[in-house]
Amino acid sequence: MFVDARTLPEGETLETDLAIIGAGAAGIAIAREFADRQINGAPIRVLLIESGGLEFDAETQGLYDGESVGIPYPLDTSRLRYFGGSTNHWGGWCRPLDAIDFQKRDWVPHSGWPVTRAELDPFYDRAAALCQIPTPRFDDHATWHEDGKNEILPLPGGDVLTRYFLYSPPTRFGVTYRQEIKNAANITTLLHANVTGIVANPEASAVSSLKIATLSGRHIIVKPGTTILATGGIENARLLLASNSVMKAGLGNGHDNVGRYFMEHPHVPGQIAFIGLRDTNLIPPYYRGYTPIGDTTMRAIFMFSADYQRRQKTLGTNMAIYPLFLPGMDIEGQPWRDIEPSIIDLLPQEKNEDARIFGVSCATEQAPDPASRITLGETRDALGMRQSVIDWRLSAFDHNALSMNIDALARAIGMWGEGRVRVGFARRDTWESEDQGWGNHHMGTTRISTNPRNGVVDENCKVHGLANLYVAGSSVFPTGGAVNPTLTLLAMALRLSDHLANRYATES
Ligand SMILES: Cc1cc2nc3c(=O)[nH]c(=O)nc-3n(C[C@H](O)[C@H](O)[C@H](O)COP(=O)(O)OP(=O)(O)OC[C@H]3O[C@@H](n4cnc5c(N)ncnc54)[C@H](O)[C@@H]3O)c2cc1C
Repeated sequence: MFVDARTLPEGETLETDLAIIGAGAAGIAIAREFADRQINGAPIRVLLIESGGLEFDAETQGLYDGESVGIPYPLDTSRLRYFGGSTNHWGGWCRPLDAIDFQKRDWVPHSGWPVTRAELDPFYDRAAALCQIPTPRFDDHATWHEDGKNEILPLPGGDVLTRYFLYSPPTRFGVTYRQEIKNAANITTLLHANVTGIVANPEASAVSSLKIATLSGRHIIVKPGTTILATGGIENARLLLASNSVMKAGLGNGHDNVGRYFMEHPHVPGQIAFIGLRDTNLIPPYYRGYTPIGDTTMRAIFMFSADYQRRQKTLGTNMAIYPLFLPGMDIEGQPWRDIEPSIIDLLPQEKNEDARIFGVSCATEQAPDPASRITLGETRDALGMRQSVIDWRLSAFDHNALSMNIDALARAIGMWGEGRVRVGFARRDTWESEDQGWGNHHMGTTRISTNPRNGVVDENCKVHGLANLYVAGSSVFPTGGAVNPTLTLLAMALRLSDHLANRYATES
Protein backbone atom coordinates (compact mmCIF):
# COMPACT_ATOMS: atom_id res chain seq x y z
CA MET A 1 0.00 0.00 0.00
CA PHE A 2 1.25 3.51 -0.82
CA VAL A 3 0.22 6.32 1.54
CA ASP A 4 0.87 10.01 0.92
CA ALA A 5 2.12 11.34 4.28
CA ARG A 6 0.64 14.74 3.46
CA THR A 7 -2.83 13.24 3.81
CA LEU A 8 -2.29 11.96 7.37
CA PRO A 9 -3.58 13.97 10.35
CA GLU A 10 -1.08 16.31 12.02
CA GLY A 11 0.70 14.52 14.89
CA GLU A 12 -0.32 11.02 13.75
CA THR A 13 1.64 8.19 15.43
CA LEU A 14 2.35 5.01 13.47
CA GLU A 15 3.65 1.77 14.94
CA THR A 16 5.66 -0.73 12.93
CA ASP A 17 7.89 -3.76 13.44
CA LEU A 18 10.43 -2.67 10.85
CA ALA A 19 10.97 0.90 9.64
CA ILE A 20 13.14 1.32 6.54
CA ILE A 21 14.16 4.92 5.94
CA GLY A 22 14.74 5.55 2.22
CA ALA A 23 13.29 3.72 -0.80
CA GLY A 24 16.38 3.63 -3.00
CA ALA A 25 18.31 0.55 -4.13
CA ALA A 26 19.04 -0.63 -0.58
CA GLY A 27 15.67 0.22 0.98
CA ILE A 28 13.64 -1.42 -1.79
CA ALA A 29 15.91 -4.51 -1.81
CA ILE A 30 15.37 -4.98 1.93
CA ALA A 31 11.62 -4.28 1.83
CA ARG A 32 11.21 -6.97 -0.86
CA GLU A 33 12.93 -9.49 1.39
CA PHE A 34 10.25 -8.93 4.03
CA ALA A 35 7.26 -8.96 1.68
CA ASP A 36 4.64 -11.33 3.09
CA ARG A 37 6.95 -12.52 5.92
CA GLN A 38 5.50 -13.51 9.26
CA ILE A 39 6.66 -13.92 12.87
CA ASN A 40 4.71 -16.53 14.84
CA GLY A 41 1.98 -16.57 12.24
CA ALA A 42 1.56 -12.79 12.26
CA PRO A 43 2.84 -10.63 9.41
CA ILE A 44 5.92 -8.47 10.05
CA ARG A 45 4.67 -4.90 9.66
CA VAL A 46 7.09 -2.99 7.41
CA LEU A 47 7.00 0.79 6.99
CA LEU A 48 9.08 2.02 4.04
CA ILE A 49 9.55 5.76 4.57
CA GLU A 50 10.42 7.76 1.45
CA SER A 51 11.15 11.48 1.22
CA GLY A 52 9.92 11.86 -2.33
CA GLY A 53 6.92 10.79 -4.35
CA LEU A 54 6.86 8.54 -7.39
CA GLU A 55 8.27 11.25 -9.67
CA PHE A 56 11.03 13.83 -9.42
CA ASP A 57 10.07 17.15 -7.87
CA ALA A 58 12.44 20.05 -7.44
CA GLU A 59 11.33 21.10 -3.98
CA THR A 60 12.05 17.66 -2.49
CA GLN A 61 15.31 17.39 -4.44
CA GLY A 62 16.27 20.76 -2.92
CA LEU A 63 16.48 19.05 0.48
CA TYR A 64 19.74 17.54 -0.84
CA ASP A 65 21.39 20.96 -1.31
CA GLY A 66 24.48 21.64 0.73
CA GLU A 67 27.94 23.11 0.64
CA SER A 68 31.17 21.72 -0.75
CA VAL A 69 34.34 23.00 0.94
CA GLY A 70 36.96 20.53 -0.31
CA ILE A 71 37.40 19.22 -3.84
CA PRO A 72 34.30 20.67 -5.55
CA TYR A 73 31.50 18.10 -5.31
CA PRO A 74 27.85 18.32 -6.41
CA LEU A 75 25.64 17.31 -3.46
CA ASP A 76 22.47 17.88 -5.49
CA THR A 77 23.09 16.20 -8.86
CA SER A 78 25.00 13.18 -7.56
CA ARG A 79 21.85 11.57 -6.15
CA LEU A 80 18.06 11.65 -6.61
CA ARG A 81 15.45 12.05 -3.87
CA TYR A 82 12.31 10.16 -4.84
CA PHE A 83 10.99 6.57 -4.88
CA GLY A 84 13.78 4.45 -6.39
CA GLY A 85 16.45 6.91 -5.24
CA SER A 86 19.58 7.37 -7.32
CA THR A 87 18.78 4.26 -9.38
CA ASN A 88 16.43 6.60 -11.25
CA HIS A 89 19.56 7.80 -13.06
CA TRP A 90 22.27 5.24 -12.44
CA GLY A 91 24.31 3.78 -15.31
CA GLY A 92 24.05 0.09 -14.33
CA TRP A 93 27.78 -0.71 -14.27
CA CYS A 94 28.11 -3.74 -12.00
CA ARG A 95 31.04 -5.70 -10.69
CA PRO A 96 31.80 -7.23 -7.28
CA LEU A 97 34.76 -6.13 -5.21
CA ASP A 98 37.77 -8.48 -5.36
CA ALA A 99 38.95 -10.60 -2.42
CA ILE A 100 41.87 -8.23 -1.75
CA ASP A 101 39.44 -5.30 -1.35
CA PHE A 102 38.00 -6.91 1.81
CA GLN A 103 41.39 -7.67 3.34
CA LYS A 104 43.47 -5.66 5.76
CA ARG A 105 46.31 -4.19 3.69
CA ASP A 106 49.10 -2.94 5.93
CA TRP A 107 49.99 -0.18 3.42
CA VAL A 108 46.40 1.15 3.40
CA PRO A 109 45.55 2.69 6.79
CA HIS A 110 42.02 1.89 8.06
CA SER A 111 41.58 -0.96 5.54
CA GLY A 112 39.93 -4.33 6.26
CA TRP A 113 36.29 -5.43 6.25
CA PRO A 114 34.91 -7.84 8.87
CA VAL A 115 33.36 -9.67 5.89
CA THR A 116 35.17 -11.71 3.23
CA ARG A 117 34.47 -11.92 -0.45
CA ALA A 118 33.70 -15.65 -0.06
CA GLU A 119 31.08 -14.87 2.58
CA LEU A 120 29.48 -12.28 0.31
CA ASP A 121 29.50 -14.48 -2.83
CA PRO A 122 25.95 -15.91 -2.44
CA PHE A 123 24.63 -12.41 -1.76
CA TYR A 124 26.39 -11.10 -4.87
CA ASP A 125 24.46 -13.68 -6.92
CA ARG A 126 21.17 -12.47 -5.42
CA ALA A 127 22.19 -8.83 -5.93
CA ALA A 128 22.95 -9.51 -9.60
CA ALA A 129 19.49 -11.03 -10.04
CA LEU A 130 17.97 -7.88 -8.46
CA CYS A 131 19.87 -5.82 -11.01
CA GLN A 132 18.45 -8.05 -13.78
CA ILE A 133 21.85 -9.40 -14.77
CA PRO A 134 21.12 -12.81 -16.31
CA THR A 135 24.52 -14.45 -15.74
CA PRO A 136 26.40 -13.30 -12.66
CA ARG A 137 29.59 -15.19 -13.69
CA PHE A 138 31.65 -12.03 -13.85
CA ASP A 139 35.15 -13.38 -14.42
CA ASP A 140 34.30 -16.64 -16.14
CA HIS A 141 36.07 -15.90 -19.40
CA ALA A 142 34.58 -18.90 -21.23
CA THR A 143 31.15 -17.25 -21.03
CA TRP A 144 32.43 -14.20 -22.96
CA HIS A 145 34.73 -15.99 -25.37
CA GLU A 146 32.12 -15.97 -28.16
CA ASP A 147 33.56 -18.31 -30.77
CA GLY A 148 37.08 -16.94 -30.47
CA LYS A 149 36.08 -13.30 -31.08
CA ASN A 150 36.94 -12.26 -27.54
CA GLU A 151 40.41 -13.40 -26.56
CA ILE A 152 42.14 -12.04 -23.46
CA LEU A 153 44.92 -9.62 -24.46
CA PRO A 154 48.15 -11.52 -23.73
CA LEU A 155 49.79 -8.78 -21.63
CA PRO A 156 52.94 -10.25 -20.08
CA GLY A 157 53.98 -9.96 -16.44
CA GLY A 158 50.72 -10.84 -14.68
CA ASP A 159 50.28 -7.37 -13.13
CA VAL A 160 47.52 -6.18 -15.49
CA LEU A 161 44.51 -8.47 -15.69
CA THR A 162 41.47 -8.52 -17.93
CA ARG A 163 38.32 -8.34 -15.84
CA TYR A 164 34.63 -7.82 -16.69
CA PHE A 165 31.79 -5.42 -15.95
CA LEU A 166 28.25 -6.67 -16.48
CA TYR A 167 25.48 -4.17 -17.09
CA SER A 168 22.15 -3.87 -15.41
CA PRO A 169 19.54 -2.68 -18.02
CA PRO A 170 19.86 -0.36 -15.80
CA THR A 171 17.17 -1.45 -13.34
CA ARG A 172 15.12 1.49 -12.10
CA PHE A 173 14.30 0.06 -8.67
CA GLY A 174 11.35 2.40 -8.16
CA VAL A 175 9.73 1.27 -11.41
CA THR A 176 10.71 -2.40 -11.63
CA TYR A 177 9.75 -3.25 -8.05
CA ARG A 178 6.90 -0.73 -7.54
CA GLN A 179 3.96 -3.13 -7.93
CA GLU A 180 5.60 -5.82 -5.85
CA ILE A 181 6.16 -3.38 -2.97
CA LYS A 182 2.69 -1.89 -3.39
CA ASN A 183 0.98 -5.29 -3.45
CA ALA A 184 2.74 -6.74 -0.38
CA ALA A 185 0.03 -6.76 2.28
CA ASN A 186 2.49 -6.20 5.14
CA ILE A 187 4.38 -3.25 3.57
CA THR A 188 3.17 0.33 3.85
CA THR A 189 5.17 2.84 1.84
CA LEU A 190 4.88 6.34 3.20
CA LEU A 191 5.63 8.84 0.40
CA HIS A 192 6.53 12.53 0.78
CA ALA A 193 7.73 11.62 4.29
CA ASN A 194 11.07 13.05 5.40
CA VAL A 195 12.71 11.59 8.46
CA THR A 196 14.22 14.60 10.23
CA GLY A 197 15.37 12.89 13.41
CA ILE A 198 15.97 9.44 14.90
CA VAL A 199 15.18 9.68 18.60
CA ALA A 200 16.96 7.39 21.07
CA ASN A 201 15.76 6.40 24.53
CA PRO A 202 17.29 8.38 27.44
CA GLU A 203 19.98 5.70 27.93
CA ALA A 204 20.94 6.05 24.24
CA SER A 205 20.75 2.27 23.95
CA ALA A 206 17.90 1.95 21.41
CA VAL A 207 15.79 3.95 18.97
CA SER A 208 12.42 4.85 20.43
CA SER A 209 10.89 6.95 17.64
CA LEU A 210 11.38 8.61 14.26
CA LYS A 211 10.36 12.18 13.53
CA ILE A 212 8.83 12.75 10.12
CA ALA A 213 8.01 16.06 8.45
CA THR A 214 6.37 16.79 5.10
CA LEU A 215 7.05 19.84 2.97
CA SER A 216 3.35 20.68 3.38
CA GLY A 217 3.88 21.15 7.13
CA ARG A 218 2.61 17.84 8.60
CA HIS A 219 4.46 16.08 11.44
CA ILE A 220 4.24 12.34 12.07
CA ILE A 221 5.83 10.10 14.70
CA VAL A 222 6.83 6.51 14.02
CA LYS A 223 7.38 3.99 16.83
CA PRO A 224 9.53 1.27 15.24
CA GLY A 225 10.63 -2.11 16.59
CA THR A 226 13.74 -2.07 14.38
CA THR A 227 14.96 0.70 12.08
CA ILE A 228 17.16 0.47 8.98
CA LEU A 229 18.70 3.69 7.74
CA ALA A 230 19.01 3.50 3.93
CA THR A 231 19.09 7.11 2.71
CA GLY A 232 22.33 6.95 0.68
CA GLY A 233 26.02 7.40 1.48
CA ILE A 234 25.86 11.09 2.37
CA GLU A 235 22.40 11.34 3.92
CA ASN A 236 22.95 8.37 6.26
CA ALA A 237 25.68 10.38 7.97
CA ARG A 238 23.69 13.63 7.89
CA LEU A 239 20.70 12.03 9.59
CA LEU A 240 22.79 10.36 12.31
CA LEU A 241 24.64 13.63 13.00
CA ALA A 242 21.36 15.56 13.08
CA SER A 243 19.83 13.03 15.50
CA ASN A 244 21.48 14.61 18.53
CA SER A 245 18.68 15.02 21.05
CA VAL A 246 20.20 12.37 23.36
CA MET A 247 23.79 11.99 22.13
CA LYS A 248 25.07 15.50 21.44
CA ALA A 249 27.57 14.40 18.78
CA GLY A 250 24.86 12.45 16.95
CA LEU A 251 23.66 8.86 17.10
CA GLY A 252 26.34 6.21 16.76
CA ASN A 253 28.99 8.90 16.99
CA GLY A 254 30.56 8.01 20.34
CA HIS A 255 33.96 7.67 18.65
CA ASP A 256 33.64 10.55 16.18
CA ASN A 257 33.46 8.32 13.11
CA VAL A 258 30.09 9.36 11.66
CA GLY A 259 30.58 11.36 8.46
CA ARG A 260 34.34 10.75 8.33
CA TYR A 261 36.23 8.67 5.74
CA PHE A 262 34.07 9.87 2.83
CA MET A 263 35.37 8.14 -0.29
CA GLU A 264 34.62 8.37 -3.98
CA HIS A 265 36.11 6.70 -7.04
CA PRO A 266 38.11 9.49 -8.65
CA HIS A 267 37.47 9.46 -12.40
CA VAL A 268 40.10 11.54 -14.16
CA PRO A 269 38.33 13.59 -16.85
CA GLY A 270 39.44 12.77 -20.39
CA GLN A 271 42.11 10.19 -21.01
CA ILE A 272 44.74 9.15 -18.47
CA ALA A 273 46.75 7.55 -21.28
CA PHE A 274 46.72 6.87 -24.99
CA ILE A 275 47.63 3.52 -26.44
CA GLY A 276 49.00 3.49 -29.97
CA LEU A 277 48.71 0.04 -31.53
CA ARG A 278 50.22 -1.55 -34.58
CA ASP A 279 46.89 -3.03 -35.63
CA THR A 280 43.41 -2.20 -34.41
CA ASN A 281 42.37 -5.84 -34.82
CA LEU A 282 44.58 -6.70 -31.86
CA ILE A 283 41.87 -5.34 -29.55
CA PRO A 284 38.93 -7.79 -29.33
CA PRO A 285 35.44 -6.25 -29.54
CA TYR A 286 34.53 -6.63 -25.86
CA TYR A 287 37.29 -4.22 -24.76
CA ARG A 288 35.80 -1.41 -26.85
CA GLY A 289 32.50 -0.69 -25.12
CA TYR A 290 29.10 -2.17 -24.25
CA THR A 291 29.07 -5.64 -25.81
CA PRO A 292 25.91 -7.78 -25.98
CA ILE A 293 26.70 -11.48 -25.55
CA GLY A 294 23.72 -13.81 -25.28
CA ASP A 295 21.23 -12.05 -23.04
CA THR A 296 23.94 -10.13 -21.12
CA THR A 297 25.65 -6.84 -21.88
CA MET A 298 29.22 -6.66 -20.71
CA ARG A 299 32.65 -5.17 -21.37
CA ALA A 300 36.25 -6.06 -20.62
CA ILE A 301 38.47 -3.74 -18.60
CA PHE A 302 41.95 -3.78 -17.12
CA MET A 303 42.50 -4.23 -13.40
CA PHE A 304 45.56 -4.95 -11.27
CA SER A 305 46.47 -8.26 -9.65
CA ALA A 306 46.49 -8.66 -5.87
CA ASP A 307 50.18 -9.69 -6.05
CA TYR A 308 51.04 -6.50 -7.90
CA GLN A 309 49.05 -4.34 -5.44
CA ARG A 310 50.85 -5.98 -2.49
CA ARG A 311 54.29 -5.73 -4.10
CA GLN A 312 53.90 -2.09 -5.14
CA LYS A 313 51.84 -1.09 -2.06
CA THR A 314 49.32 0.51 -4.34
CA LEU A 315 45.52 0.82 -4.59
CA GLY A 316 43.11 -0.65 -7.12
CA THR A 317 42.13 0.99 -10.42
CA ASN A 318 39.86 -0.11 -13.23
CA MET A 319 40.78 1.09 -16.69
CA ALA A 320 38.58 0.98 -19.75
CA ILE A 321 39.86 1.59 -23.27
CA TYR A 322 37.99 3.31 -26.07
CA PRO A 323 38.93 3.48 -29.74
CA LEU A 324 39.73 7.09 -30.61
CA PHE A 325 40.55 6.44 -34.23
CA LEU A 326 38.00 4.25 -35.89
CA PRO A 327 38.74 1.90 -38.78
CA GLY A 328 38.15 3.49 -42.14
CA MET A 329 38.89 7.05 -41.00
CA ASP A 330 41.48 9.12 -42.81
CA ILE A 331 44.64 8.80 -40.77
CA GLU A 332 45.52 12.44 -41.47
CA GLY A 333 42.00 13.66 -40.69
CA GLN A 334 39.88 14.32 -37.63
CA PRO A 335 39.59 13.55 -34.83
CA TRP A 336 42.84 11.98 -33.87
CA ARG A 337 45.17 14.87 -34.62
CA ASP A 338 42.98 16.99 -32.37
CA ILE A 339 43.17 14.47 -29.60
CA GLU A 340 46.89 13.93 -29.27
CA PRO A 341 49.04 14.92 -32.24
CA SER A 342 52.31 13.88 -30.62
CA ILE A 343 51.22 10.27 -30.25
CA ILE A 344 51.79 9.79 -33.96
CA ASP A 345 55.51 9.70 -33.14
CA LEU A 346 54.97 6.74 -30.87
CA LEU A 347 53.54 4.49 -33.50
CA PRO A 348 55.58 1.91 -35.34
CA GLN A 349 56.45 3.98 -38.41
CA GLU A 350 56.63 1.19 -40.95
CA LYS A 351 52.98 0.25 -40.37
CA ASN A 352 51.64 3.72 -39.68
CA GLU A 353 48.66 3.36 -41.95
CA ASP A 354 47.37 0.49 -39.79
CA ALA A 355 48.01 2.22 -36.52
CA ARG A 356 45.16 2.85 -34.20
CA ILE A 357 44.78 4.93 -31.06
CA PHE A 358 42.85 3.91 -27.95
CA GLY A 359 42.14 6.26 -25.06
CA VAL A 360 42.30 4.97 -21.48
CA SER A 361 39.85 6.19 -18.84
CA CYS A 362 39.74 5.09 -15.23
CA ALA A 363 37.96 4.88 -11.93
CA THR A 364 40.40 4.48 -9.10
CA GLU A 365 40.40 3.65 -5.41
CA GLN A 366 41.09 6.26 -2.78
CA ALA A 367 42.43 5.34 0.63
CA PRO A 368 40.15 6.06 3.63
CA ASP A 369 40.99 9.41 5.23
CA PRO A 370 39.20 10.65 8.38
CA ALA A 371 39.60 14.26 7.20
CA SER A 372 37.54 13.59 4.06
CA ARG A 373 34.12 14.00 5.55
CA ILE A 374 30.48 15.10 5.83
CA THR A 375 29.55 17.53 8.60
CA LEU A 376 26.49 19.67 9.31
CA GLY A 377 26.52 23.31 8.18
CA GLU A 378 24.74 26.30 9.62
CA THR A 379 22.36 26.68 6.65
CA ARG A 380 19.05 24.88 7.11
CA ASP A 381 16.85 23.21 4.53
CA ALA A 382 13.13 23.85 4.02
CA LEU A 383 12.33 21.48 6.90
CA GLY A 384 14.74 23.19 9.30
CA MET A 385 17.41 20.46 9.11
CA ARG A 386 21.04 21.56 8.91
CA GLN A 387 22.39 20.98 5.41
CA SER A 388 25.38 18.74 4.68
CA VAL A 389 28.84 20.17 4.21
CA ILE A 390 31.11 17.93 2.18
CA ASP A 391 34.88 18.16 2.42
CA TRP A 392 36.08 15.61 -0.12
CA ARG A 393 39.82 15.10 -0.02
CA LEU A 394 42.30 13.09 -2.03
CA SER A 395 45.85 12.42 -0.90
CA ALA A 396 49.30 12.24 -2.45
CA PHE A 397 49.13 8.48 -1.81
CA ASP A 398 45.96 8.27 -3.93
CA HIS A 399 47.67 10.22 -6.71
CA ASN A 400 50.85 8.16 -6.60
CA ALA A 401 48.89 4.91 -6.60
CA LEU A 402 47.08 5.90 -9.78
CA SER A 403 50.33 7.07 -11.42
CA MET A 404 51.96 3.76 -10.53
CA ASN A 405 49.06 1.80 -12.00
CA ILE A 406 49.18 3.77 -15.26
CA ASP A 407 52.91 3.01 -15.47
CA ALA A 408 52.15 -0.67 -14.90
CA LEU A 409 49.72 -0.65 -17.82
CA ALA A 410 52.28 1.14 -20.00
CA ARG A 411 54.92 -1.44 -19.03
CA ALA A 412 52.60 -4.34 -19.82
CA ILE A 413 51.68 -2.91 -23.24
CA GLY A 414 55.36 -2.21 -23.91
CA MET A 415 56.36 -5.78 -22.98
CA TRP A 416 53.63 -7.11 -25.23
CA GLY A 417 55.41 -5.34 -28.08
CA GLU A 418 52.37 -4.45 -30.17
CA GLY A 419 52.01 -0.82 -29.14
CA ARG A 420 53.19 2.08 -27.03
CA VAL A 421 51.56 4.19 -24.33
CA ARG A 422 51.68 7.94 -23.81
CA VAL A 423 50.68 8.89 -20.27
CA GLY A 424 48.23 11.77 -20.05
CA PHE A 425 47.93 11.94 -16.23
CA ALA A 426 50.22 14.55 -14.79
CA ARG A 427 53.05 13.37 -12.55
CA ARG A 428 52.98 15.30 -9.34
CA ASP A 429 52.35 14.76 -5.66
CA THR A 430 48.93 16.33 -5.32
CA TRP A 431 45.56 16.32 -7.03
CA GLU A 432 45.01 19.51 -9.00
CA SER A 433 41.73 20.97 -10.15
CA GLU A 434 42.01 19.47 -13.63
CA ASP A 435 42.41 15.94 -12.19
CA GLN A 436 38.99 15.93 -10.58
CA GLY A 437 36.16 13.71 -11.61
CA TRP A 438 33.95 11.30 -9.69
CA GLY A 439 31.50 8.46 -10.06
CA ASN A 440 28.60 9.63 -7.83
CA HIS A 441 29.67 6.88 -5.41
CA HIS A 442 29.32 7.88 -1.76
CA MET A 443 31.19 5.56 0.57
CA GLY A 444 32.67 5.28 4.05
CA THR A 445 30.71 7.71 6.23
CA THR A 446 29.23 5.03 8.55
CA ARG A 447 32.02 2.47 8.18
CA ILE A 448 31.73 -1.13 9.30
CA SER A 449 34.08 -2.41 12.01
CA THR A 450 33.85 -4.99 14.77
CA ASN A 451 35.60 -2.50 17.04
CA PRO A 452 33.35 0.49 17.89
CA ARG A 453 36.42 2.73 18.08
CA ASN A 454 37.08 2.22 14.38
CA GLY A 455 33.61 2.26 12.94
CA VAL A 456 29.95 3.18 13.20
CA VAL A 457 28.28 -0.19 12.51
CA ASP A 458 29.25 -3.68 13.63
CA GLU A 459 29.76 -6.74 11.41
CA ASN A 460 25.96 -7.09 11.06
CA CYS A 461 25.57 -3.41 10.08
CA LYS A 462 23.97 -2.61 13.44
CA VAL A 463 24.98 0.77 14.85
CA HIS A 464 27.39 0.17 17.74
CA GLY A 465 25.67 0.70 21.09
CA LEU A 466 22.11 0.87 19.71
CA ALA A 467 20.09 -2.34 19.94
CA ASN A 468 17.68 -1.74 17.05
CA LEU A 469 19.29 0.61 14.49
CA TYR A 470 20.96 -0.71 11.33
CA VAL A 471 22.52 1.01 8.31
CA ALA A 472 22.33 -0.12 4.66
CA GLY A 473 24.18 1.40 1.72
CA SER A 474 27.73 2.14 0.64
CA SER A 475 28.25 4.37 3.69
CA VAL A 476 29.17 1.13 5.51
CA PHE A 477 32.12 0.40 3.17
CA PRO A 478 35.41 0.84 5.08
CA THR A 479 37.26 0.83 1.74
CA GLY A 480 35.73 1.18 -1.70
CA GLY A 481 37.83 -0.88 -4.11
CA ALA A 482 37.93 0.34 -7.69
CA VAL A 483 34.50 -0.59 -9.03
CA ASN A 484 30.99 0.88 -8.83
CA PRO A 485 29.38 0.28 -5.43
CA THR A 486 25.74 -0.66 -6.02
CA LEU A 487 26.15 -4.42 -6.51
CA THR A 488 28.17 -4.61 -3.27
CA LEU A 489 25.79 -2.41 -1.28
CA LEU A 490 22.92 -4.62 -2.46
CA ALA A 491 24.82 -7.77 -1.44
CA MET A 492 25.40 -6.23 1.99
CA ALA A 493 21.72 -5.17 2.22
CA LEU A 494 20.59 -8.72 1.43
CA ARG A 495 23.01 -10.05 4.03
CA LEU A 496 21.50 -7.62 6.55
CA SER A 497 17.99 -8.79 5.58
CA ASP A 498 18.97 -12.41 6.26
CA HIS A 499 20.50 -11.41 9.59
CA LEU A 500 17.30 -9.62 10.64
CA ALA A 501 15.06 -12.44 9.43
CA ASN A 502 17.12 -14.88 11.54
CA ARG A 503 16.93 -12.52 14.47
CA TYR A 504 13.13 -12.33 14.17
CA ALA A 505 12.98 -16.13 13.91
CA THR A 506 15.11 -16.73 17.02
CA GLU A 507 13.43 -14.01 19.10
CA SER A 508 9.91 -15.22 18.30
C1 LIG B 1 24.40 9.67 -12.46
C2 LIG B 1 24.69 8.45 -11.61
C3 LIG B 1 25.15 7.28 -12.21
C4 LIG B 1 25.44 6.16 -11.44
N1 LIG B 1 25.87 5.03 -12.06
C5 LIG B 1 26.17 3.93 -11.32
C6 LIG B 1 26.61 2.73 -11.95
O1 LIG B 1 26.73 2.64 -13.18
N2 LIG B 1 26.90 1.67 -11.15
C7 LIG B 1 26.78 1.71 -9.79
O2 LIG B 1 27.08 0.72 -9.12
N3 LIG B 1 26.34 2.83 -9.18
C8 LIG B 1 26.03 3.94 -9.90
N4 LIG B 1 25.57 5.07 -9.29
C9 LIG B 1 25.40 5.04 -7.83
C10 LIG B 1 24.08 4.39 -7.42
O3 LIG B 1 22.99 5.13 -7.95
C11 LIG B 1 24.02 4.34 -5.90
O4 LIG B 1 25.12 3.56 -5.44
C12 LIG B 1 22.76 3.69 -5.36
O5 LIG B 1 21.59 4.25 -5.90
C13 LIG B 1 22.74 3.90 -3.84
O6 LIG B 1 21.64 3.22 -3.29
P1 LIG B 1 21.04 3.68 -1.89
O7 LIG B 1 19.78 2.92 -1.69
O8 LIG B 1 22.09 3.58 -0.83
O9 LIG B 1 20.73 5.25 -2.05
P2 LIG B 1 19.71 5.95 -3.04
O10 LIG B 1 19.48 5.09 -4.23
O11 LIG B 1 20.23 7.31 -3.28
O12 LIG B 1 18.34 6.01 -2.22
C14 LIG B 1 18.19 6.77 -1.04
C15 LIG B 1 16.71 7.02 -0.85
O13 LIG B 1 16.52 7.64 0.42
C16 LIG B 1 15.57 8.69 0.29
N5 LIG B 1 15.82 9.65 1.38
C17 LIG B 1 16.88 10.47 1.52
N6 LIG B 1 16.78 11.18 2.66
C18 LIG B 1 15.62 10.78 3.26
C19 LIG B 1 14.98 11.15 4.46
N7 LIG B 1 15.51 12.04 5.30
N8 LIG B 1 13.79 10.56 4.77
C20 LIG B 1 13.23 9.63 3.94
N9 LIG B 1 13.82 9.25 2.78
C21 LIG B 1 15.01 9.82 2.45
C22 LIG B 1 15.82 9.26 -1.09
O14 LIG B 1 14.72 9.96 -1.58
C23 LIG B 1 16.13 7.99 -1.88
O15 LIG B 1 14.97 7.43 -2.44
C24 LIG B 1 25.26 6.20 -10.03
C25 LIG B 1 24.79 7.37 -9.43
C26 LIG B 1 24.51 8.49 -10.21
C27 LIG B 1 24.02 9.73 -9.53
